[in-house]
Amino acid sequence: MIWYPYVQMKTMETPYRIVDAEGVYLRTPDRQLIDSVSSWWSVIHGYKHPALDQAIRDQLGRFAHVMLGGLTHDAAERLSDKLQSWLPGDLDYCFFSDSGSVGVEVALKMALQFYINRGEPQRTMVFALEHAYHGDTFRTMEIGDDEDYHFILKARGQPGDVVHIPTEIEALEQAFARWHDRLNCLIVEPLLQGAGGMRMYDVSFLRRARELCDRYDVLLVFDEVATGMGRTGNRFVADLVLPDIIVLGKALTGGYIGHAATVASRRVYEGFYDDDPTHALMHGPTFMGNALACSVALRSIELFEREDYMAKIGRIEAILRREMAGFADPRVREVRIMGACLCIEVYDEATLRGYQSFAYERGVFSRPFLRYLYTMPPYVIGESELVRIVDTMKAWFAR
Ligand SMILES: *Cc1c(COP(=O)(O)O)cnc(C)c1O
Repeated sequence: MIWYPYVQMKTMETPYRIVDAEGVYLRTPDRQLIDSVSSWWSVIHGYKHPALDQAIRDQLGRFAHVMLGGLTHDAAERLSDKLQSWLPGDLDYCFFSDSGSVGVEVALKMALQFYINRGEPQRTMVFALEHAYHGDTFRTMEIGDDEDYHFILKARGQPGDVVHIPTEIEALEQAFARWHDRLNCLIVEPLLQGAGGMRMYDVSFLRRARELCDRYDVLLVFDEVATGMGRTGNRFVADLVLPDIIVLGKALTGGYIGHAATVASRRVYEGFYDDDPTHALMHGPTFMGNALACSVALRSIELFEREDYMAKIGRIEAILRREMAGFADPRVREVRIMGACLCIEVYDEATLRGYQSFAYERGVFSRPFLRYLYTMPPYVIGESELVRIVDTMKAWFAR
């Protein structure tokens, strides 16, 4: 039987059974629901998109998958070329993996080994943000027993080597002043912290982070698994402030197949590129560069460019702002909007209890968590459907 995510199986409510999905709609046996969360923020073009379906069919006519160990293929090459030209600056060196969590692990491994290769193994420390979310994995290297693969683990330092910093410039400056000589990277979800509660913060924090990283020779890593591909109203937040490493996932494949890319700058890449085999990056997920995933990701990016998705996202943001203008309720702590993301934060999570079935009855699929009621709709959503999502939220508070 299926063991479902993030839930007590004993008390969980029966999940809705989806028998078909098209555009922004999920179909259960008796209803059609507007998907207000885009399957964990990934299905940006909607379901059953003809061009994406076709990209997979075309690739399937050749092969579904071959490994990237000692082999290569057009789909992976074309996607890495595309990302190289599409991403800002010299974020040109693309390491594929099969999920966002692994993509983040790869970024952290790169940052640590970058300094080991340079003869600075004392730089084991990582700065992250308070309320950060970067994935759900741990320990696979720890229980592994193969020096060739996992020498990096010994170099990693202690768990106490992670310091969490609030999104306040002063705190960031103090942390850098105190620990910079032991630090290898600062990793952030830039501008929008998703799973930590759709928390939004100002770009000035990132600008200062970039300056401090430059001053102290520390790598800046953007986990854009959630924010990439337009969600914040920027194509990538990296368009505003350039990181040394960016991680993409979720919407990378249009939500079709799990895949991620950890893309490094020239400087990072050159920290590994020499005649010493021990300076190589020892990582290689079985399904990295999966041909179906790469084909659909490439088509997704082409659609994103050709059909001016940034304009669609701008329109979504304008509608969200218009529809939420004047909304107030004593149970609501804050309403936050950025790009194609709206979050209503309440004081007490009990306020949201029952919302999911309330929305279901009104033809909307929603999945609030903790104190956060939010939508991150597919970018192809029509105005009337988007208004329906917001109206359903407002109706909950109007009862
Ligand atoms: C979802 C998410 C991840 C993890 O991605 P998975 O594909 O679920 O492993 C990492 N970072 C951020 C910011 C995310 O939102």
